[in-house]
Amino acid sequence: MKTIEDFNFEDKKALIRVDFNVPLDQDFNVTDTNRIEAAKPTIIKILEDGGSAVLMSHLGRPKGQRNTDMSLKHICETVSEIIGVQLKFAEDCVGEAAEKAASELQNGEVLLLENLRFHSEEESGDEAFAEALSKLGDIYVNDAFGTAHRAHASTTIVAKYFSENKCFGNLLAKEIMAIEKVMRTGEKPVTAILGGAKVSSKITIIENILDKVDHLIIGGGMTYTFVKAQGGKIGDSICEDDKMDLAINILSKAKAKGVQVHLPVDVIAADAFSADANTKIIAVDEIPDGWQGLDAGPATLDNFREVIQDSKTILWNGPVGVFEMEKFSKGTIAVGEFIEEATKNGSFSLVGGGDSVAAVKQFGFQDKVSYVSTGGGAMLESLEGKTLPGIAAILGS
Ligand code: AMP
Repeated sequence: MKTIEDFNFEDKKALIRVDFNVPLDQDFNVTDTNRIEAAKPTIIKILEDGGSAVLMSHLGRPKGQRNTDMSLKHICETVSEIIGVQLKFAEDCVGEAAEKAASELQNGEVLLLENLRFHSEEESGDEAFAEALSKLGDIYVNDAFGTAHRAHASTTIVAKYFSENKCFGNLLAKEIMAIEKVMRTGEKPVTAILGGAKVSSKITIIENILDKVDHLIIGGGMTYTFVKAQGGKIGDSICEDDKMDLAINILSKAKAKGVQVHLPVDVIAADAFSADANTKIIAVDEIPDGWQGLDAGPATLDNFREVIQDSKTILWNGPVGVFEMEKFSKGTIAVGEFIEEATKNGSFSLVGGGDSVAAVKQFGFQDKVSYVSTGGGAMLESLEGKTLPGIAAILGS
């Protein structure tokens, strides 16, 4: 696996695919700079080597049309401040303006190209468009994990015009290594904690990780399909009746593979899906009609804690309750605390994919776990065992 550390960028122009798809307010101010900060180490390494950087990204969904609201020009000042270099800007990402700006770029300078998605050829993975992009740099660096699952021109197709001169940026390399640790090289016992609303959205992940984990903790809304399938009473809890056979199948596969499955034993049940509902603690398989399970109960959390404490490698995907409502957020916060404790004791912990990342940020755990993934869809596809085209394009020569 080639990374920026394998190259000396002196006198070289790096064409870097970054993910600057950041949120903007009404006045076009950047309201969350995380993605820009995440790309900084790669850009700095290239400049410190004595090279220059041409940055390309998408912003929003302009669908192939030029749209000034989604111009990357709006973020130039913010990026300049964060990187510590005054950015140059090219009004288009291909063609004469881009080529002229790139050719005039001096070592130590950074050029930001206009939104890639102003051209429909970006998302269609058009070869001629990718070739036009490739003219703007000597070495291609992909540092955008968030789009690595898309075979777009700038994330995948462009790589083939660089022969050996292509590599992963610092951020993308970190993402790949974190996934590798959980899926292949992590110290045992390996535990996956899967929560969220539905079995159907997690099924491919569950099937893929059964070969890789020692413990599988199931929480959140998914729980009730498993409990009902085993004959439990779940009241009005969320359930996918058509996935009950699948749930039984998962449990028997897990048993055959020697994976220990831990389901909730008790829950915080509510008499409505509402922040001011009445609540009671109740056994997970004895929920009366009119009540629904919305968070993990105390005995459940004790069990989860024991498993997580003993784990050396931990993956967390999906909240174990309706964490958006304070009343049902305690289980998810507790799981965060257990992972924090295990991480302090030397375990590796990865949080990735969708709402668990939102929960981890909301409750301030992002610096207390080993790694929080920056890519929702890309992380989910990795956990499903898919090869991401953006990663394959760098690995293949
Ligand atoms: P996902 O995007 O699949 O990870 O699902 C996250 C969503 O699952 C969050 O919005 C949670 O509120 C929801 N969720 C977690 N537990 C439950 C539950 N017991 N009942 C209903 N929704 C839940």
